[in-house]
This record gives sequence, structure tokens and C-alpha cells, in this order.
Amino acid sequence: MIRNGKPIRPRIIIHHLNPLTKEDVIGHTDALLDPENVICVSDRTHKAIHYGDDTILKPMYTERRPGDTCPWRK
Ligand SMILES: [Zn+2]
Repeated sequence: MIRNGKPIRPRIIIHHLNPLTKEDVIGHTDALLDPENVICVSDRTHKAIHYGDDTILKPMYTERRPGDTCPWRK
């Protein structure tokens, strides 16, 4: 699966935007798979969400610098 232009590997994790209750899980309520309540994330992103640590995320882009369009110049 591709999310934000990057593949999610090695597996996809479903994160619920509004936390589920015990009753949701036991009763298999619509909240389990409500598309307005779930997002697909990588394991790394999921841990960043739950542990509140975005330093474990890979940067989405590399900051541009002079000469970066010429691949043989470093
Ligand atoms: Zn989650």
C-alpha cells in the first residue's frame, strides 16, 4: 500500500482516530471499520502516534540546497 507517496512496509496497521471501547471490540460495532475512524499507517508511524515521539519518523523530504539538481556533485 502507498500512503503519502511512500510504501507502507512490511505490514499495514489500522489506527483508530477515536479509540475503541471494550464494547466496540466485543460487540464488533461499526466503529471497528468505520472509514471515517481508521487510517492505514506503518508500524513506525503507529508507534510515533501512541508514544508521542515523532523523532522516530523518517523525514518526508530532504531540504533543497544549491547544486542538488546535479547528481555527480556532492
Ligand atoms: Zn493505534
